Amino acid sequence: MWTDRPIEWLTARVYTVPTDRPEADGTLAWDSTTLVLVEAGSGPVTGLGWTYGPSAAAALVREQLGPVVLGRDALDTSGAYEAMRRALRNAGRPGLGTYALSAVDLALWDLAARLLDVPLVGLLGGRPRPVEVYGSGGFTTYPDRVLERQLRGWVEEQGIPRVKIKIGESWGARPERDLERISVARTAIGPDAALYVDANGAFTAKRAIRLAAAFADDGVTWFEEPVPSDDPAALAAVRAAVAPDVAAGEYGDDARYFARLAPAVDCLQADATRCGGPTGFLRAAAVAEASGVQLSAHCSPHAHAHAAAARGAAVRHLEWFHDHVRVESLLFDGVLDPAGGTVTPGADGAPGHGLTLVEGRAAPYQVDA
Ligand SMILES: [Mg+2]
Repeated sequence: MWTDRPIEWLTARVYTVPTDRPEADGTLAWDSTTLVLVEAGSGPVTGLGWTYGPSAAAALVREQLGPVVLGRDALDTSGAYEAMRRALRNAGRPGLGTYALSAVDLALWDLAARLLDVPLVGLLGGRPRPVEVYGSGGFTTYPDRVLERQLRGWVEEQGIPRVKIKIGESWGARPERDLERISVARTAIGPDAALYVDANGAFTAKRAIRLAAAFADDGVTWFEEPVPSDDPAALAAVRAAVAPDVAAGEYGDDARYFARLAPAVDCLQADATRCGGPTGFLRAAAVAEASGVQLSAHCSPHAHAHAAAARGAAVRHLEWFHDHVRVESLLFDGVLDPAGGTVTPGADGAPGHGLTLVEGRAAPYQVDA
């Protein structure tokens, strides 16, 4: 018999955590990371979701999304998703609007799984199974010794045989420095680990193609956002000319965005904290499948792990992103262990995504108290 379990309350809080050292990629620099945390409750059960973005996302949750989510059946995640998309029409659905929606969607999936007392991967149609991760950081601001130490930490200490570094320093104006850093990275990780690079849209297509030819001897197998990802024609041109897989999609917000981008890449990326939570991520996986490419989860590994496991081989890997691993390990108990290069969400049988907020550790970083 169907039992209605209404969503009774929904809150948003904002936490800003300083980085452990200055960070930059090809096109942006930052010294802190802001997480917008959403909690949704039904009876004694609470679901937890989050996005990474400015505190304005919390205001969108309270003002635009709460009114259309409260009172709904907590198991009706699809209904809540559609209602939130409609509610955001005039507020601005792409970008920050969908970041806010994503945090709520993740909280509602977590709530539903906890109400049913099953790991989220089970509710999403899968079972606990290993999902490959890759270590991601290698910021352009790192001195070489810091870069080497970080990469060796993943490869040698944690046994993660895939790593990614940032390139495209100063909007692609320092290709000789990019090549030096790629060489430093390859030497640090040895000949066998996979080496990925991410330019964050720093290059023109011609510059990206020239650079890829120059780093061919370093065995780079993944070239992320060689050009801005809002230019699928340029991505396709690079894809046709270079050996590494070309990947993009981290700013995508819905299935139509991914459908436009998928034919231009070798591996699509989607970020569940930006594209509509697990609901949006699963839709991105379906789009990728329809285009004959895999999907890779962008950043925030704990927001993706259960959905990735549920989709099996359709998802290539999770990004074990230095910043977000640090923030998620600080704020939450129940984080996953990437030792050996995989995580297995749900293996401990904990309901939902298995993370709980540690109020005492988080409180010093709350900025909207
Ligand atoms: Mg990227």
